[in-house]
Amino acid sequence: MSPTTAVGPVLPAWAEVDLDALAHNVGVLRDRAPGADLMAVVKADAYGHGLVPVARTAVAAGAAWLGVAQLAEAVALRDAGLTAPVLSWLSVPGSDFAGAVRRDVDLSASAPWALDEIAAAARAEGRTARVHLKVDSGLGRGGAYGQDWTALVRHARPLEAEGVVRVVGVWTHFAFADAPDHPTVLAQQERFFEAAAEAEREGCRPEVRHLANSAATLVHPAAHADLVRPGLALYGLSPVPQVDDDFGLRPVMTLRARLALVKGLPAGQGVSYGHAYVTPGDTVVGLVPAGYGDGVPRNATNVGPVLVGDHRTTVAGRVCMDQFVVDLGPDSTARAGDVVTLFGGAPGEPTAQQWADATGTISYEIVTRIGPRVPRVVIGSHAGSDAGSDAGSPAGEVPAP
Ligand SMILES: *Cc1c(COP(=O)(O)O)cnc(C)c1O
Repeated sequence: MSPTTAVGPVLPAWAEVDLDALAHNVGVLRDRAPGADLMAVVKADAYGHGLVPVARTAVAAGAAWLGVAQLAEAVALRDAGLTAPVLSWLSVPGSDFAGAVRRDVDLSASAPWALDEIAAAARAEGRTARVHLKVDSGLGRGGAYGQDWTALVRHARPLEAEGVVRVVGVWTHFAFADAPDHPTVLAQQERFFEAAAEAEREGCRPEVRHLANSAATLVHPAAHADLVRPGLALYGLSPVPQVDDDFGLRPVMTLRARLALVKGLPAGQGVSYGHAYVTPGDTVVGLVPAGYGDGVPRNATNVGPVLVGDHRTTVAGRVCMDQFVVDLGPDSTARAGDVVTLFGGAPGEPTAQQWADATGTISYEIVTRIGPRVPRVVIGSHAGSDAGSDAGSPAGEVPAP
């Protein structure tokens, strides 16, 4: 079932990362946006899946670009030897822009201070910084809004003339891409193309205009522009779960554990802290060694779906820091050591979306919050090559927790 017993230590809990599924999903997304290049968004440790193996596999599968939020994530990609264009889009004043310019990392600017700091770094490095100007087309988050956009573009032009900055991209981000009929989608798109045209009128010559996240890549072709920026869908999860279509995506992460204990409890026994669950009859319970210290949401108490063998059950009682309990029913033949699946993609397995629905969040958060105590075990034919795990271990080998 898992490669974890073949080599390496037996683990209490682990996340299998299926790099073949990831490569497949890159193909699905490229097919949806045939006229655009694809930037694989690998921020936040590739949504919890493992930055470097995911990035390598995505590039091997045809992603021309990589996208991250923080500079340190871009540096980690370069340090791992990835040479594809990388865009880092979220920095604060005083960031190490010189380190980014030296490593050929593309930078986003939403305000003049960012252009000034990037230009200073480029002068110090004796290089030209590659910059993507970000317009706030209506998300009300990052980007230059309204007249600030004109000012940002005009601030960039002399720096381009000096040769320290080159505006290689113009970009924005949607507020409601997951609601394809929402009127803001069209309004943001119009504002974006108008802003891009203004930048060109002012003399900028961007290589790429980009605005589509996963949802827009899948359901909003008019927003594909030159480059699409999917994140969630790469990992096989739907950004539009209300739409009855999985787009042929395959979930990449499967979170598993082994039962640490199986025992009988009598009817009426409270289970776990606060006795939030009480056994309805004599039963058998199993102890699952994963808790909120591993990223299992505490509010999965009494609602998180779990598969034990072919028996579908639910978290029984509070999720604790390191563990939770499942009620296996009176006739269970489960034994300590049996494999438990919290979520995955195979038939019968609960999904990250079901965990999100049960806990009042989105699937993004379910996978991204799986913590560093849970080893990522890469599987699939991409796993053994230089797409292998962060630790550089061979296929299926379990890095030490
Ligand atoms: C996270 C992020 C994406 C990817 O979003 P998904 O909904 O996961 O596809 C794209 N662009 C920006 C700016 C982001 O922050």
